[in-house]
Amino acid sequence: MATTAADQACDYCGRNSASARYDLGTHRILRCPGCTFMWLDPQPTAEELHEVYGEDYYSNQRFFEGNGEAIYGYHDYVSERFVKQQDHQRIVDRIVEFLSRNGDGAHGERRMPGLLDIGCGYGYLLDVAHDRGFDVEGIDYNRAAVDRIARKYRFRAVCGDFMAYDGAPRDVVTMMDVIEHLPRPFDALSKAASLTRPGGIFALSTMDSDSIVSRMLGQRLEDFRRTREHLYFFNRRTMRGSLERAGFDVLRIDSYGLTIRMDSLARRARMALPRAGAVMERVVRWSGLSAQQVHFDPRTKMVVYARRRDPA
Ligand SMILES: [Zn+2]
Repeated sequence: MATTAADQACDYCGRNSASARYDLGTHRILRCPGCTFMWLDPQPTAEELHEVYGEDYYSNQRFFEGNGEAIYGYHDYVSERFVKQQDHQRIVDRIVEFLSRNGDGAHGERRMPGLLDIGCGYGYLLDVAHDRGFDVEGIDYNRAAVDRIARKYRFRAVCGDFMAYDGAPRDVVTMMDVIEHLPRPFDALSKAASLTRPGGIFALSTMDSDSIVSRMLGQRLEDFRRTREHLYFFNRRTMRGSLERAGFDVLRIDSYGLTIRMDSLARRARMALPRAGAVMERVVRWSGLSAQQVHFDPRTKMVVYARRRDPA
């Protein structure tokens, strides 16, 4: 098989010398030697993407079958709510800290800051931000998710492609685990900038494709194997550069661990490292620690905070 893909220009730097970094059989992940940006090849069609984001995206019973057709979405998103919200709490705390450094809320201002969550899923982050006093709104492509928010919460969530969203700029825009799913990630960052008021905060999370563990596990890593939905892979450098081009100043990049039940951690480990993972699963079961929660940070994910520049 040819390992070059010279016909494919890198969307980040424009070079034509990408080669296959990972070969997943049905797909490859290409890497640009010039700038280190990576992307899935071939890319799914619009119809294929639409098909993935259905109701079962959040309760994908086939998830642990472990092949590229089956790995997408969440095995059981509802049961992950509380652990996800612990992570969101930390992120919202950090956002509040950056806003207060802006001097927002000083001078006797009592206005609730506005927050837009792009790709809001079931509204977990919105719920946390709402509790912290934000005037929140969400947007998600997935109809089932937006309907669920409408049944459960009183804050607003709209269904659709956020590239067509024309709401007013907010004090805060968040985009958790979304950018890697989007067919035009750089346009999406520009759109996010237009939805963030000058001086406002943008927070985004995605995989860090060049972290030590990402490189060590390579194509065994779940994030690389989500061939139906993960289209683009950033590292700290390309993410910083992309945000600066879109009109942001990067304030901080953290690794982004996850709080996870031991049984779920072992199950996921087994997808990447079958033998070690199987041993871990048995140990967890025997020791009665299945439901024990741990905070686990393999540093494969990053959360980036940025401030919207004043458009000159
Ligand atoms: Zn490049």
